Amino acid sequence: MQDKPENRVIWLFVALGLLFIVVLSIQDLLHSPISWTEAKQKIESGQVESVEIDSHLVRLRLKESDTELRTDMLETVFIEQDESFFPLLDKNQVTVKAVGPSNCEEGSSWLFTFFLIGLIVYMVIRMQRTGSSNPFARSKASLASPESSTIRFTDVAGIDEAREELEELVAILKQPQRFRTLGGRMPKGVLLVGPPGTGKTLLAKAVAGEADVPFFHTSGSDFVEIYVGVGAARVRDLFEQAKKKAPCIIFIDEFDAIAKSRSSRNLNGNDEREQTLNQLLVAMDGFDSQQGIIVIAATNRPDSLDSAVTRPGRFDRQVHVQLPDIKGRRAILEIHAKNIQLDDEINLDMIARLTPGFSGADLANILNEAALLTIRKAREKIGLVEIEEAIERSIAGLAHKNRHINEDERRRIAFHEGGHALCAAALPVADPVQKISIIPRGRGALGYTMQNPEQDQNLYTHKQLYSKIVILFGGRAAEEHLFSDYTTGAADDLRRASDIARQMIRRYGMSEALGPMSFERDENRFVQELSPSLISLLDQEESKILKEAYHHASSIIQQNEDLLRSLGQQLLEEETLSGDKLDELLSRTQEYRI
Ligand code: ADP
Ligand code: MG
Ligand code: ZN
Repeated sequence: MQDKPENRVIWLFVALGLLFIVVLSIQDLLHSPISWTEAKQKIESGQVESVEIDSHLVRLRLKESDTELRTDMLETVFIEQDESFFPLLDKNQVTVKAVGPSNCEEGSSWLFTFFLIGLIVYMVIRMQRTGSSNPFARSKASLASPESSTIRFTDVAGIDEAREELEELVAILKQPQRFRTLGGRMPKGVLLVGPPGTGKTLLAKAVAGEADVPFFHTSGSDFVEIYVGVGAARVRDLFEQAKKKAPCIIFIDEFDAIAKSRSSRNLNGNDEREQTLNQLLVAMDGFDSQQGIIVIAATNRPDSLDSAVTRPGRFDRQVHVQLPDIKGRRAILEIHAKNIQLDDEINLDMIARLTPGFSGADLANILNEAALLTIRKAREKIGLVEIEEAIERSIAGLAHKNRHINEDERRRIAFHEGGHALCAAALPVADPVQKISIIPRGRGALGYTMQNPEQDQNLYTHKQLYSKIVILFGGRAAEEHLFSDYTTGAADDLRRASDIARQMIRRYGMSEALGPMSFERDENRFVQELSPSLISLLDQEESKILKEAYHHASSIIQQNEDLLRSLGQQLLEEETLSGDKLDELLSRTQEYRI
């Protein structure tokens, strides 16, 4: 640490504090404590010249210094009930000197007051110097010091969709004037969402590097301190700095540390965090979007964010950064293997195949670990053994985070997702399938099938809702058909299917037995009391829809069994399927009418 003048002042106060403590303990030495009986004996024997009575204490000044105790002041606790005390004083002609705090104690309280005044003066001076309303606001200097990034887009691989979305920012940052004259509305905030280690920080740095603008690297936890008001002051400070350096990028990692939704916090709340978030939103609303400050925030828990954060003019763009598929992993490995000597027996394709579910950071780590193992064994080049050992070590870590998927599970997931896709392709009213993946995607989703609605939809027909349920059941039906058994993997599908069925019956009046009637309970309107027989009828109707839909899903799977097998196989090999290849495969599906 540098010896700044500020530090010297702090040391001065530490020294003063120590002095204060020393003085207090010397005082204790000066007044040796004795018992009440002893005190009375001293008075009786005529050794005492005078006494000072405090509310609880009696100090005895001796005529001659006590050689044993080496002091001329003795102290004892005053026992007021002892009525013989004052007559005793009179009898021995002891003067009663003072009633109240002693001079000596006064001296030490003066010292203490001086200490306090000094501290306050010091803080006021600091506040004036930093121009901030809070003396702690700048205590973390790194918060407001911009870096210049050397990272380029070529250093980022395997997350092409996210990269493409951010490329536009570079163009804007490079020529804010041009963008301004075209009348474009500059984006203010971008939210990078994805699991840890997928390259969110790296991407943000690449944007700064490509645009050649300063990069303020902060983290949500930097702002949140125990002192109320510090976080808000730091936000203000940061934006002031950024304005001076614009165009520039402010990066906020671990954004959820400040932007957690108000409802998800505990009841007594965290005022400090709320103030910090409010200050951030005010700062973002406040700066003119033409200034060229772009705030990029990263989080792996987007569902926990306060809804105020994603409002237009704030973080209105979300970019998803996902775990890489096999091709992506191969590309990431290539970047990190540039300066590494691999043995001829291995190649990057092999490593990519061995590492499903690994993030970019995991992959960089494996190569690093393998290189260390190789050095330890005094070998020249990294071999298959070292790579496998490094992967195994990582897998232990991933399993701990519930992210490692074994080969059996991968097969299950591949055919399960294939089942969803097949049902979607077979049903004429369903939205087309855009992408299938067996790469885990946060919050317990082990794979996913993405359908792309051809247009935004506000109204759904009965058939469309029913088709949704059939598609949700496609996964489990495929598992049952191919493995004659099913797993717990369909839990979320079942929940969503049940929700839709319940809404169809209770909200949209789509039940034949009950007719067009709503059973929705609304706080503002009167509440219908449902009779037990009616409740059981509602349950029956829901269950009927679900069972029929499952039956339909099974039929679709049976009719398209061969296609399901090749779809699953392709997925196991490539991990994600999209575009022409997927369209070509799914175009072979037999249409199914319900
Ligand atoms: P995140 O911010 O998403 O947690 P980081 O950007 O901090 O992840 O990634 C940590 C490191 O892992 C990076 O510095 C880089 O070495 C490596 N890495 C992660 N993702 C990628 C990627 N997509 N391409 C290349 N390297 C990556
Ligand atoms: Mg990071
Ligand atoms: Zn599913």
